[in-house]
Amino acid sequence: MTQAPSALSRRNLFKATALGAGVIAAPQILVRAAQAEAPMAAVLPAAFKRFSLGEFEITVLSDGHRVVENPHGIFGMNTSQDDVEALLTDSYLPVDKMQFTFAPTLVNTGAELILFDTGNGEGGRPGGVGQTLANLKASGYTPEQVSIVVLTHMHGDHIGGLMEGGAPTFPNARYIAGQAEYDFWSSEDRIGTPAENGHKNMVGKVVPLADKMSFIADGESVTGGVTAMAAFGHTPGHMIYRLESGGRNLILTADTANHFLLSLARPDWEVRFDMDKSAAAATRKSVFDMIATDRLAFVGYHMPFPSVGFVEKMDGGYRYIPETYQLDL
Ligand SMILES: [Zn+2]
Repeated sequence: MTQAPSALSRRNLFKATALGAGVIAAPQILVRAAQAEAPMAAVLPAAFKRFSLGEFEITVLSDGHRVVENPHGIFGMNTSQDDVEALLTDSYLPVDKMQFTFAPTLVNTGAELILFDTGNGEGGRPGGVGQTLANLKASGYTPEQVSIVVLTHMHGDHIGGLMEGGAPTFPNARYIAGQAEYDFWSSEDRIGTPAENGHKNMVGKVVPLADKMSFIADGESVTGGVTAMAAFGHTPGHMIYRLESGGRNLILTADTANHFLLSLARPDWEVRFDMDKSAAAATRKSVFDMIATDRLAFVGYHMPFPSVGFVEKMDGGYRYIPETYQLDL
């Protein structure tokens, strides 16, 4: 059969069958035609990745993804469009658009169920993001079971899921963040600056939870085996976390790097989202030097989902190595 099934009219099909040309093939054609009439199943798949880290259970949750135009408008502000396009092209990536993913991480220590960041929330759902709550449920937990919500920083894609329909999404949780981060975004000094929208969003989502919030400093622990590390630059109080259980380690790098290639291969390239660009670059290099040197696994909030990987040092930066089955063994 060289003719496409769609080109065959029912009449011709019977004719072909009668001629003995497709006695066996004809029923298959009919089945294919019936399947083609089914509506597209546009339902999003449940998207989470689960693995063990010693005694901890780690679940990386997808909040969905967003497509953004013009990578050079965000990455490599201190280099040329040609440099950015060449690096993208070398990695078989388009030069005119890019995909951002968002990956909150749920950690069950046995004593606490800790959610690191909350995704874009209900406001992002019309744009296809805000899927953290659905994926948390799909992964077998309820929002009521979350005992601690840690905010690595207070950009909208991290705090957006704190409230649902005007009420706290995680009603039994207490909250932890860096004090510098809280103070910066809650201050009315942000009004009239580029951070004004972030301030308003934070006042709506985080300030109402202030009586259940405590602050954490560099080197302090959320609970046993969950330690904060100052990683300032992306925002004034950006914190990352080291998880350690049973001799295994995992770093939650939050927004230390915002793209697996453009931020990691070229850590000195300036990123529009980094509020203090030189401090962010210095932090990027010190954090990923440590991760490469110690051969640690990390979850990067904006790495391609499921957002878990390793890095290897290469000239001037790092090569991202997505996790495959290392953490399952
Ligand atoms: Zn982010």
